[in-house]
Amino acid sequence: MTAVPTVLGVVDSGDLGRTYMHEHIFVLSADVQQNYPAEWGSEDDRVADAVEKLRALAASGVRTIVDPTVIGLGRYVPRVVRIAEQVPDLNIIVATGCYTYDDVPFFFHHRGPALNAALGMEVPDPMVDLFVGDIVDGIAGTGVRAGLLKCAIDHQGLTGGVERVMRAVAKAHRQTGVPITVHTHPTSHSGLDVQRVMVAEEGVDPSRIVLGHSGDSSDADHLSALAEAGFLLGMDRFGINLETTFEARADIVVELCRRGFASQMVLSHDAACYIDWIDPNVIPFLPQWHYLHIEQEVLPYLRDHGVTDEQITTMLVDNPQRYFENVGPY
Ligand SMILES: [Zn+2]
Repeated sequence: MTAVPTVLGVVDSGDLGRTYMHEHIFVLSADVQQNYPAEWGSEDDRVADAVEKLRALAASGVRTIVDPTVIGLGRYVPRVVRIAEQVPDLNIIVATGCYTYDDVPFFFHHRGPALNAALGMEVPDPMVDLFVGDIVDGIAGTGVRAGLLKCAIDHQGLTGGVERVMRAVAKAHRQTGVPITVHTHPTSHSGLDVQRVMVAEEGVDPSRIVLGHSGDSSDADHLSALAEAGFLLGMDRFGINLETTFEARADIVVELCRRGFASQMVLSHDAACYIDWIDPNVIPFLPQWHYLHIEQEVLPYLRDHGVTDEQITTMLVDNPQRYFENVGPY
């Protein structure tokens, strides 16, 4: 058993229970919100809304959510603490890392490896120490420790900034052992970039990495190859049925279970109580994108299509538990 840091304190890994491995509470453009707060409105109302939605999620039997909201996504842990205190039945695990599809934030432009040429030496990336500090000491004075690391690669591919964050995340992982989730773009096979940079070059054990958003793809052979390579596959955008469908998202889970990969998948929605990236008038066009969709619609569909209760428990309980265990530097 492993002590897993959550917002309200450590939880034994054996007590994580049913875990959704990729759910945001808020996704915010922090500096836009600071200057144009009208849409956000009342802080108290937003917190109350989140408490209500998360209580409903806990009442559905989910014991733990993993919130991979990091720099670039408006992480603000004091607000998460305020919410968590009102939903004590739900463990919330928060993350450290940096979310970008192209360049590093300007804060990092002229720091660390950006200075290598000017100084004629390898300058360590300050991101590594920031991430390790969040994991070891806690985030921004809250005392809440990050339980995982997060980075991203999307259709732009392995840009200089994406690669720099990926290597910083890998180094922070090797120093601490806390697991990693990577936002990937599976239709462009970006999992292979993760494999080369993080696994082959930085020495990360692939079983410690979730390749997020794998369920955006229906390419069973490609996903099977990544599972065989040891990665966990995040089938973690249930309800975002824009470029794909409910059936396609569910059917690829059915197929990978049929191929024997239930032990390599985790399930989630990538939902949020509020995300400012989307016009609020568009949200009604995504009626299944909420925290209860898996319980209400996905699991019945999976069972109807041959996925066993044992496989569902593997994906929702056993795989997350394994992911948060065996944490140690290497
Ligand atoms: Zn996300």
